Amino acid sequence: MSYLDTKYLNLASATLQKYKKLKPGVWTFRCPYCGDSKKHRNKTRGYIFSVKADHVFKCHNCGITRSFSNFLKDNAPHVYDEYVMERYKEGTIGGNVPKPDLTQFVSKPKFKKRTVNLEPLSSLNKSHQAKKYALGRGIPEDKLDRLYYCPEFKKWANTQKKTFSSTSQDDDRIIIPINDPDGNLLGFQGRALSSKAKMRYITVMLDENAPKLYGLDEINDQSTIYIVEGPLDSLFLDNSVAMCGSDVDIRSFNWSDYIWVYDNEPRSRQITDKLSKSIDAGDKVVIWPKNIEQKDLNDMANGGINVKSVVQSNVYQGLQAKLQLSNWRI
Ligand SMILES: [Zn+2]
Repeated sequence: MSYLDTKYLNLASATLQKYKKLKPGVWTFRCPYCGDSKKHRNKTRGYIFSVKADHVFKCHNCGITRSFSNFLKDNAPHVYDEYVMERYKEGTIGGNVPKPDLTQFVSKPKFKKRTVNLEPLSSLNKSHQAKKYALGRGIPEDKLDRLYYCPEFKKWANTQKKTFSSTSQDDDRIIIPINDPDGNLLGFQGRALSSKAKMRYITVMLDENAPKLYGLDEINDQSTIYIVEGPLDSLFLDNSVAMCGSDVDIRSFNWSDYIWVYDNEPRSRQITDKLSKSIDAGDKVVIWPKNIEQKDLNDMANGGINVKSVVQSNVYQGLQAKLQLSNWRI
């Protein structure tokens, strides 16, 4: 019966934006119900996946869930009647065929809220020092709405959570919000703008037990997730999160596929130790080719390297990763 769904999905696919097959039994495209992200035209959060003998549509943006048959009725009415007819002939719909149970897939719809009551860098004037700093680092313009400008860091941080006993010697910083998958603020990092700052990054967690992971609200956990070392580096690699502390248990997220992308520093004991640990845990890691000199994703992107493609072609696991690692650190 699966065959019929596939046939009709194929017929309907012409009207679905950014339609593609992810793996056997899973397709993704822009959600035709909510229109998906307005800002990120490449985001596809509508999914069709097989459940037992049936297929189900679900959008991870608006949360709508439909049986495949209702999905066709809504989005491809020109082929729907024919589909029903064929299934009827096949005997898989009609009187005594039970309807698939969708309740297990229904979740609350998500609405993105602005989590930080500060000005995002995207709306600042180009001559503003914070925006200049970000653009100077090569951060893509369409990512600037994920960073905020804070004129008095300590003072503002204290309004979120009593953190600093004294607000003297305050400075201005870029705020990197750490959100949960639904976009609720869990904490934030303040990145110093001045090169003289004693602490370049200060991390404040509103809830100390929350995972110190940046980007949870931006990833699609149905596809491969990259775990990188710095929040700003993560802006250079699609579908990535960044560690903002060392004590995050990645396994607790139950992601189907993830890859560790550590900095390119073969002589750093700290990095090679982390790589060894990940490899021993059976995880996938990226081991950079020797001809790359840049130490992090940001520098690589600025050096004209196609970060995504280098990352994708240098993923290792298990014994192969061990060999590659010993080769890399020489
Ligand atoms: Zn939707």
